Amino acid sequence: SAIMVKDLADQLGVKATELIKRLIGLGVMAGVNQELDRETAVIIATEFGATVEERATQEEQEEIILQGEDDSPESLTERPPVVTVMGHVDHGKTSLLDRIRATRVTQSEAGGITQHIGASVIEWNDRKVVFLDTPGHEAFTSMRARGAQVTDVAVLVVAANDGVMPQTVEAINHAKAANVPIVVAINKIDLPGANPDKVRTELSNYGLIAEEWGGDTIMVPVSARTGEGIENLLEALILQADVLELKANSQRAAQGTIIEAKLDKGRGPVATVLVSRGMLNVGDVFVAGAVYGRVRALINDRGQRVKSAGPSMPVEVLGFNQLPEAGDDFVILADERQAKSIADSRQDRIRRQSEPNARGVSLDDFLQRLKDEAVKELNLVIKADVHGSAEALAQSVSKLSNDEVRVRVLHAGVGSITETDVMLAQASNAIIVGFGVGVENKARQIAEKEHVDIRSYRVIYDAIDDINKALRGMLEPKF
Ligand code: GDP
Repeated sequence: SAIMVKDLADQLGVKATELIKRLIGLGVMAGVNQELDRETAVIIATEFGATVEERATQEEQEEIILQGEDDSPESLTERPPVVTVMGHVDHGKTSLLDRIRATRVTQSEAGGITQHIGASVIEWNDRKVVFLDTPGHEAFTSMRARGAQVTDVAVLVVAANDGVMPQTVEAINHAKAANVPIVVAINKIDLPGANPDKVRTELSNYGLIAEEWGGDTIMVPVSARTGEGIENLLEALILQADVLELKANSQRAAQGTIIEAKLDKGRGPVATVLVSRGMLNVGDVFVAGAVYGRVRALINDRGQRVKSAGPSMPVEVLGFNQLPEAGDDFVILADERQAKSIADSRQDRIRRQSEPNARGVSLDDFLQRLKDEAVKELNLVIKADVHGSAEALAQSVSKLSNDEVRVRVLHAGVGSITETDVMLAQASNAIIVGFGVGVENKARQIAEKEHVDIRSYRVIYDAIDDINKALRGMLEPKF
């Protein structure tokens, strides 16, 4: 936040000319109508003997209200894992999800009709597992780019007759960048050409070593077609959840994330909330992103009306004043006026800012943050024209890591820079380095909007040189 020279002079009770003189003393040339950054204002105010109170902005105050209190360790109880299915196209993600969802039809109580609300709850041996209905690492990372991480575990589907393919590698890297553990489903084992061991070997090249080979990645052979191994997969997910010790307070006012939103002809704006903590009840007042409302009805994934929903549960909510967006936060507040006021001021901010949520990072920003000692890692997404150069570049830049800064290559792949690459970069504060490749139009648009830095090179040496300079604090500004 900035302050004008004359306003600061007013607040300090000194003449503006006096202030300007002092500023010159500090090497800052400023006129009365010029804005000073916060840092300079604090220094000068201190020079005049004033004490500077750090006052939270309205936005900061609102965020504190929305965040709510931390939960004490004693208040936490076990919650089910939330799972996203990822993998290469045609390896069976959709079939696997369908097959898993089918397991509950036999177990479900009468009257329940399976409904698409964005996520499905599977019960297995008295334990629950929640699956997000939209498969793919693109969906996963675009949520993350919006600031929401709801997934606890990724199921990586690899077809046993096809093995590790480019999008398998992408999925692995997207999950790793998010620190989400991977459980592998080796699918299509019913096919004559299936070779699960070949999949295990290929995955070991990407750091996923099967448990039965002494590693710590659970790999389960399955067939989405015949249903073989599906129960083992559910068992493995529960095991993985136990390792993660997933817990939440289910007694407090609810918080969660919007995972789907649509305008329904008969019912108006409806959205699915995935509860992260607390208990969501009919009648609760909420803020979701820049909209608000009161819960009129809750509908579960079986199409049944319910009175409440606890941690990890997806539930369709009726009662929004307007349509929220997927990725928005969802927070219960005690007071409807407060909810409206926060939603309104968020709306105002969105309207004012031509570029909301600018959260990307550029190589120059990185440099600044490096000086501020705020970062210790430079994250990169690398795309190149051929596999060899992607690998060479990834290896060379990784070697640039020094004691202070680590260069971390989140993903190195072949082909033009896509929307998914930009999402990954945005979600992980990474810079995209292209070598001999173009940028897809949509990707460029999003990168510009979200301020994700894309740097293109024709010579590997130039790329390495730039990154090296950035690390050593010598990078020339980009024009
Ligand atoms: P996605 O693109 O990863 O969602 O893959 P799909 O679920 O659409 O499956 C792609 C194709 O593989 C479809 O023709 C499926 O019927 C087939 N498929 C999926 N799982 C299996 C399986 O376990 N065995 C066999 N034989 N085919 C499968």
